[in-house]
Amino acid sequence: MSWEVDSEELTNFSSSKTWNAVRNRGPTRNWTQNIWFKGHVPKHAFTIWIAHQDRLPTRSRLSSWGMNVSPLCCLCAVYEESRDHLLLRCEVSESVWELVLQRLGYNPFGFHTWTAFSDWLSMRDKVTSRTLKRLVAQATISSIWTERNKRLHEGEARTPQGIFRIIDRFIRDTILGKIKRKEFMSLMQQWLRRE
Ligand SMILES: [Zn+2]
Repeated sequence: MSWEVDSEELTNFSSSKTWNAVRNRGPTRNWTQNIWFKGHVPKHAFTIWIAHQDRLPTRSRLSSWGMNVSPLCCLCAVYEESRDHLLLRCEVSESVWELVLQRLGYNPFGFHTWTAFSDWLSMRDKVTSRTLKRLVAQATISSIWTERNKRLHEGEARTPQGIFRIIDRFIRDTILGKIKRKEFMSLMQQWLRRE
């Protein structure tokens, strides 16, 4: 007997593998839509896709591979640089998210885990359109990762407000570039209403 799980033929039934494939199917589908939604920006979508799989070369991962690097975060130099810390919980990232969430119309809150972040990204609500939320979230993740690399390789540091200004400009340019698409028509107004 053979079982096909995620296009991989297994000669012996593996209950844990099957269970994982079944259990992950829902979230995987949601994630695909969170990342490759209509109008996504390829460079940002790619960064968040790698982050979603926890494959960004964070210092925590580099040092777990035995590389002789400090495991401390490039943004705060206090906590270990894991994906969730760097992109969601670091004081620098938290300040950037606070500005982003306020601008989208949310009362600021913290994402404590990647799962909480994913759930928020998949959710529909009345605060803002999901397309804008996805566009902005991808730009935010990507900008935090870029800031981390700039600090590491070029020794340049921006404040959270400086990072937010880059995100803001990027969102305006992206919406302007796609304004003829039906799903982008109302986004500029939504993004600018709390400027
Ligand atoms: Zn940090």
